[in-house]
Amino acid sequence: MPISFDSLGLDSELVRVTQELGYRAPTEIQAAAIPPLLSGLDLIGKSKTGSGKTAAFALPMLQRLDIGRRELQGLVLCPTRELSAQVRRDIRTLGRSLPGLTVVELVGGQPAKGQREALARGAHLAVGTPGRVMDLLGSGALQTGAVATLVLDEADRMLDMGFGPDVATVVRRLPAERQTVLFSATLPDEIERMASAYQRDAVRVSTETTGASAPAIGEWKVYTPPDERFDALVRVLATRAHESAIIFCNYKASVQQVTDRLQAAGVSADRLDGSLDQFHRDQVLSRFRGESVRRLVATDVAGRGIDVEGLDLVINYELPQQPEIYVHRIGRTGRAEASGQAVSLAVGPQDARVASVEALTGSSLTELRLDDSEQTHRQRLAAIAGPAPMRSILISGGRKDKVRPGDIVGALTGDAGGLSGDEVGKIEVQDRLSYVAVRHHLAPMAAERLNQGRIKGKRFRATLVGR
Ligand code: ADP
Ligand code: MG
Repeated sequence: MPISFDSLGLDSELVRVTQELGYRAPTEIQAAAIPPLLSGLDLIGKSKTGSGKTAAFALPMLQRLDIGRRELQGLVLCPTRELSAQVRRDIRTLGRSLPGLTVVELVGGQPAKGQREALARGAHLAVGTPGRVMDLLGSGALQTGAVATLVLDEADRMLDMGFGPDVATVVRRLPAERQTVLFSATLPDEIERMASAYQRDAVRVSTETTGASAPAIGEWKVYTPPDERFDALVRVLATRAHESAIIFCNYKASVQQVTDRLQAAGVSADRLDGSLDQFHRDQVLSRFRGESVRRLVATDVAGRGIDVEGLDLVINYELPQQPEIYVHRIGRTGRAEASGQAVSLAVGPQDARVASVEALTGSSLTELRLDDSEQTHRQRLAAIAGPAPMRSILISGGRKDKVRPGDIVGALTGDAGGLSGDEVGKIEVQDRLSYVAVRHHLAPMAAERLNQGRIKGKRFRATLVGR
């Protein structure tokens, strides 16, 4: 059972927002950091990019906030303007159930006047870069008497960028009785020194997700001219050539076209659209779960309710008109298990559908720049072509025929079947039929053996499905 947001001690309104955002469960760092932060402890957290650190510190900060008091109660320092803007957006989204929540952004590169005015009007939280925050403190525009929580986000990058002395100046102006939260992707000695200087009895939390160098959870956008969309798709697939993917389209015609082009090139792909009857729909999904087909091209209607554990990648070949659909689509990746990626193809920065997705989710998609190697489209396609690792066999008997998974394994392995256990993959027994996935090249032989032999003393028909 994965841990739920409910069980971390968060108020129900905050839990509801996480649900609305499509977060199925807390990430590892969130599960570890939220409870101690809610009880006011200092914390030093190490985890990778994309592991959900913003919500890990923002949710407890929002919960501890006294919204009736229009004073600055929390301050977040980030290394760059862009990160500050992003964190502010995230905090506002996560805090949208708090009436009248005000979060100001205090960053350089723009006149301080507007920021001074915003502070004078009163704000609950501030997010900014150390230099500007220091200036506003110096001029008296920023009053910190009520600051209960300080967050140093991406502390290692702040040090790398030379913000150490500015951070020190800011910290000196804050109340000594405060909660100090420090997040960093790495914990070199300077960070440890910073922690011991600014924190008291900090809880240490360190998580190691997947081990992949790519962000553990990521939402990306790729800009492509409409007539190069298919090539962009191929390039995205090539970045994770060995993994499974669902490719969402807005129209049945696009599903058909994309599937045809992938299949014609020998890429393991199949379609899932409204024109399939229930039997074939189940069959395609079963093959996908059994790794007998690696990419599913789907419409929203047909893709509804797809339940695939450990799905690596969701691609929005066409972004939906309604951003809520986006959230449903990408909810399919194993995001809570911190491995999913979602990549959306968009025409360009002017694409209104990207803007509406970003407005709804409250965070911007990171632009993914595709590797611009010399390869031609044809070469790239060839690079992702090839059979799926497994191939599925349909057996004409199921639960009602008293067939159980162990019986199928038994018929395929040992003297009768000739396969070894690790050559047999996922088995799904339904009422009147079953699917078993076996190593791709062994599937024809396995089907033949099943046809000649018996399962539970009975003869059943075995048919290869897919390609
Ligand atoms: P970090 O700061 O660790 O790099 P972020 O806080 O920016 O990561 O989160 C990365 C992405 O993960 C964001 O798009 C965010 O909306 C999403 N996210 C955060 N928490 C969850 C969760 N529990 N489930 C699914 N997605 C999440
Ligand atoms: Mg972050």
